[in-house]
Amino acid sequence: MQINETLIRSVVEQVINQVRNQPGTTGAPASSASTSTVSNATRGKHGLFDNVDAAVAAARTAFEELQKRPIDDRRKIIDIIRRISISQCVELGTMEMEETKIGRLVHKIEKLKTLGEKTPGVEFLKTECFSGDHGLAVIEHAPFGVIGAITPVTHSLPTITGNAISMIAGGNTIVVNPHPSGKKVAAVGVERFNRAIAAEIGIDNLICLICEPTLETAQQLFKHRKIALICVTGGPAVARAALNSGKRAVVAGPGNPPVVVDETADLDLAARCIIQGAAYDNNLLCIAEKEVFVVNSVFDAMMAAMERAGAVRLSGPEVDRLTSAALQEVGEGSDKHFAARKELLGQDAYKLAEAAGRKVDPRTELVFGETTADHPFVQTEQMMPFVPFVRCPSFEAAVECAQQAEHGYRHTSMIHSRNVRNMTVMARAMDTTLFVKNGPCMASLGLGGEGYISFSIAGPTGEGVTTPMTFTRERRCSLIDDLFILGR
Ligand code: NAD
Repeated sequence: MQINETLIRSVVEQVINQVRNQPGTTGAPASSASTSTVSNATRGKHGLFDNVDAAVAAARTAFEELQKRPIDDRRKIIDIIRRISISQCVELGTMEMEETKIGRLVHKIEKLKTLGEKTPGVEFLKTECFSGDHGLAVIEHAPFGVIGAITPVTHSLPTITGNAISMIAGGNTIVVNPHPSGKKVAAVGVERFNRAIAAEIGIDNLICLICEPTLETAQQLFKHRKIALICVTGGPAVARAALNSGKRAVVAGPGNPPVVVDETADLDLAARCIIQGAAYDNNLLCIAEKEVFVVNSVFDAMMAAMERAGAVRLSGPEVDRLTSAALQEVGEGSDKHFAARKELLGQDAYKLAEAAGRKVDPRTELVFGETTADHPFVQTEQMMPFVPFVRCPSFEAAVECAQQAEHGYRHTSMIHSRNVRNMTVMARAMDTTLFVKNGPCMASLGLGGEGYISFSIAGPTGEGVTTPMTFTRERRCSLIDDLFILGR
């Protein structure tokens, strides 16, 4: 399907009109669209639950049913999820945008379509085999059972879609505790997936959702006896909570991806890549370019290249005004740190410029400016389309700053360089799960680069870009060749 402005506009209008025509709504914003689509009467079926015990029990029953089915049924189930995610991407993406109010509509839509198309399925399951004098050993990949998933507000339904495809491909079922600010679109998507799967395959509740998620329901999932594995996608607090849960966890935690630009880089290419990655969905991607360290000899030329590529440069005082408007100090004592203010998180670049005291073209994708390396915009995972650029005396100093800004998350980093040695030096120093050379961040997820996609990139626990194999356990079956052993 071709997604263009006209199509998006017409579907957005349709969704908003539907909401306005719902009994009991008074032209309310479309955030209530999702609630009206999923009524309380639907609770307890098609994956929608009010409490954790009921959701886990339903997912367990669905798991037992799935286990009786051939792998080909898993493929058919995944195809249904793909079909809905792709064919309804405009409507569901619009709902996500209206509910969360962060990011960019065109990218909300594109994320659903891309995850539907490119998330790996059952073809990723591999069986290994060893044969020799003593017979045969077959290593298969079996499901864990019911997986508890925690999903972020930055990509509520897209994360559920990608997790569901990977986890069901591995033979599992899922209970999701979504972010409260993305729970409505999560419920609409989950209900549609389950309803279609139940109608076509005859199993309901493969993907279950806690409709009113809280930190308590997340804790209940972490502790539940029948949850075999948890998969957490989110920031530092939930990553810590999962690691301390006492249960096996796949943790897709926070990042603060730095970019280094050295004196050999193609600066115009670097500028285009930085804008593409950092402006995508208003910088909500955990892999997105968040700060750039440029060697002094090409710093001014790099700033000029950014302007040529369409980004708007803010002056020092403008950056100061934006910093006060966009970031705030939170926490106590040694935990004191800066965090993005909700009002500007994921907002359009022109709004950031406004907060800085500058009026720019509303189509501006990215604003940027010069800061020092210890600036809060450099050190904070800010998730907004402003990128700080830091002047560094040398390549080595740039890599050191990049390491410092990445805070040891080992998530994602980027380099723009034609010097192979510099690429290797930085790759080793950063040791990040994703490392991109001369491309935008999304190239690391197979979008313009090689490889496959997932929106759960497990750095802290080491699984990397999650696939169906991530959600399986090894099971070995040995056939002993006793003829040889007994000398017969
Ligand atoms: P968030 O940490 O505020 O919330 C994520 C989820 O965790 C939500 O469902 C939230 O309700 C839950 N949660 C938060 N604290 C919790 C706790 N103590 N116990 C249990 N559950 C808790 O993050 P967000 O703002 O929704 O998403 C952005 C963050 O997620 C960023 O830090 C980003 O880097 C990260 N992220 C990482 C990946 C990845 O693949 N590594 C992908 C997307 C987002």
